[in-house]
Amino acid sequence: MISFNLTGKTALVTGGASGIGRETARMMAKAGAKVAINYLPADQRGEAALAELQKEGLDVIGAPGDVGDAGQAKAMVLEAVVKLGRLDLLVNNAGIPGVKIPVPINDLDSITEELWASLLNVNLMSVFRCSKAAAPALKAAKGSIVNTASIAGFGAVASTIAYSGSKAAVINLTKNLARALAPDVRVNAVAPGVVESSWAIEWSEERRQSTLTSTPLKKVCTTADVAELIVFLGFAGALITGQTVAIDGGISI
Ligand code: NAD
Repeated sequence: MISFNLTGKTALVTGGASGIGRETARMMAKAGAKVAINYLPADQRGEAALAELQKEGLDVIGAPGDVGDAGQAKAMVLEAVVKLGRLDLLVNNAGIPGVKIPVPINDLDSITEELWASLLNVNLMSVFRCSKAAAPALKAAKGSIVNTASIAGFGAVASTIAYSGSKAAVINLTKNLARALAPDVRVNAVAPGVVESSWAIEWSEERRQSTLTSTPLKKVCTTADVAELIVFLGFAGALITGQTVAIDGGISI
């Protein structure tokens, strides 16, 4: 585990009510940062995550808002920036699988126009709209952006067609945002493989074993593993921009 000193730094994490987002918020706050946690307004896990982290004495604030809605996303980002006072890191992490996990579907009949639209809206457009709203504050702070893509976006593993497409577009957007916001703001992405304690699903022993079998490093990726990479790309790696780093134990090779 790398240790970071983020005293005086601030961050906003979208989709922070659970999984990778919550763990990333916790890791940054534990390192001394002030962190705004975004969550869907109706999602009680958001308030619960906030209360849990505040109970641990961490400096976290809530930033409710649906990043799938352009108006709410912009207002949420601008309000969070005001409350934080500055913005050093935006983590565009909110995402939906679109289908019931863990069943991977490549069945064309189940992929509808509506499914594509909702996945592109939440997984892709939220990254664009939150980044655009945060850009002035990030430029002022010489900050950075980290997007949560997926190895599905490389097209290297079986996943659902629309989800893979949305994450491939996030990888592409990461490069173009990096060009658009250079030299002030670095933009990178993480591409997790199969993450334990995420997507809010219970892991059976069978799933754990099958994941281990298909993972060259024979280790299951945790939300903390992904959070550590997000924090590294966000606050270290001064010459890294436009990159998508896989964190998957070698599944995608
Ligand atoms: P998760 O379901 O625990 O986290 C996703 C969070 O995003 C949830 O809290 C959800 O409520 C929130 N969210 C969804 N739509 C939102 C919206 N419109 N506005 C605000 N918040 C919204 O699952 P996770 O695994 O922690 O997922 C985090 C990211 O990691 C996602 O982008 C996902 O695609 C990506 N990812 C996950 C895996 C995995 O195996 N779990 C693998 C690769 C990539």
